[in-house]
Amino acid sequence: RAKQRGRARIEVFDRAMHTQLLDRVETEQSLRRAIARDELRVHYQPVYRLGQPSPVGVEALVRWERPDVGMVPPDRFIPLAEEVGLIIPIGLWVLRRACRQVARWRAEDPRLADLRVSVNLSARQFGDASLVASIATVLEASGLPAECLGLEITESVLLDDIDATEATLRALRALGVRLSIDDFGTGYSSLSYLKRFPVDEIKIDRSFTAGLVTDRADLAIVQAIIGLANAMDLEVVAEGVETDEQLTRLAELGCRLAQGYLLAHPTPPDQVIALLPPEGAPVAVRTHDDPDSV
Ligand code: C2E
Ligand code: MG
Ligand code: MG
Ligand code: MG
Repeated sequence: RAKQRGRARIEVFDRAMHTQLLDRVETEQSLRRAIARDELRVHYQPVYRLGQPSPVGVEALVRWERPDVGMVPPDRFIPLAEEVGLIIPIGLWVLRRACRQVARWRAEDPRLADLRVSVNLSARQFGDASLVASIATVLEASGLPAECLGLEITESVLLDDIDATEATLRALRALGVRLSIDDFGTGYSSLSYLKRFPVDEIKIDRSFTAGLVTDRADLAIVQAIIGLANAMDLEVVAEGVETDEQLTRLAELGCRLAQGYLLAHPTPPDQVIALLPPEGAPVAVRTHDDPDSV
C-alpha cells in the first residue's frame, strides 16, 4: 500500500510538472513571436535632477502586452527570455525603440532637448560578442549621440568573468555610452570594481530608499553610497522614491538625481509629454544664492 501511495504521489507530481512544462513551452513560443506580432511595449520612467521640473533622463522598461493575459511585467518574462536566449533579440528591439524615441523627443520638444535614456542589459546580453557592434549600429541609425545613452547593468554581471567584463566595458566606453550599476548594494558587491571598471553612475536600490526614513541601517547605507559616489565623481540616482520625506532626506544627504512613483511612474511614450511642466514655466525650486531668482 505504501508503494501504491508512493506511485500515486509520483503521478500527481509528474502531472504538475508536466503542466508547468507545457506552460513554459507555451510561454516561450508566444514570447518568440511577440516581437513580430508587435506585442512588446517600452514604458519610460523619468529621472529628475532635484529642483528641475523637466526630467534629465528616462529609463526604458519593457512590458509584454500578451493577448488574453494583459500587460506582463518584465520580471515575469525576462528571466525566461534570458534562459532561452530570446533576450538578445528582445534587448536589441528595446534598445532600438528607446533610442529612436528619445532622439525624436530631443528634436521635437525644447523641454527634452538634453534628454538621456537608460536601457537595462542582462548578463546574457552583456556576454554577447556582437553587443558593442549592435549598439554602435543602433546609435548610428537613431541619430542619438552616444553620450545620451546609458546602459544599466547589475553587480552580478560585473563579477562574471572579470577580464572579459573589463574588455566589454572599455569597448562600450570607447563608443561614448554611459555605464550605470543598477540595484547597487544588493548584489555580491565588491567595491574594488568601482575603481577598476569605467563606471559613470550608481543607482541606489529601491529597498534602501524604502527604509531611508525609518531604518537606521538603510539610512547608513544610503549615506555611504552617496558619499562614495560623490567622492569618486560618480553620478548617483536614488531609485524607488515614493514619499516627500524620502526625497527631502536624499537632498540633505547630497543625492541629486531621483526616480520613483512619487515623481512619475513608468509611462507609455504617448503620455510622457503630458508629464512635463508647461513650456516656459519657472523652475519650481530656486535657491537663495541663485542670482536669477526673483
Ligand atoms: P530596474 O532596472 O531596477 O527598474 C526599476 C523597477 O522599479 C521598475 O520595475 C520600475 O517600475 C520599478 N519602480 C520604479 N519606481 C518605483 C517606486 O517608486 N516603487 C516601486 N515599488 N517600484 C518602482 P519593472 O518595470 O517591473 O522592471 C523590473 C526589472 O525588469 C527592472 O528593474 C530590470 O531589471 C528588468 N527590465 C526591465 N526592462 C528591461 C529590459 O528592457 N531589458 C532587461 N534585460 N531587463 C529589463
Ligand atoms: Mg534599471
Ligand atoms: Mg534597479
Ligand atoms: Mg532590478
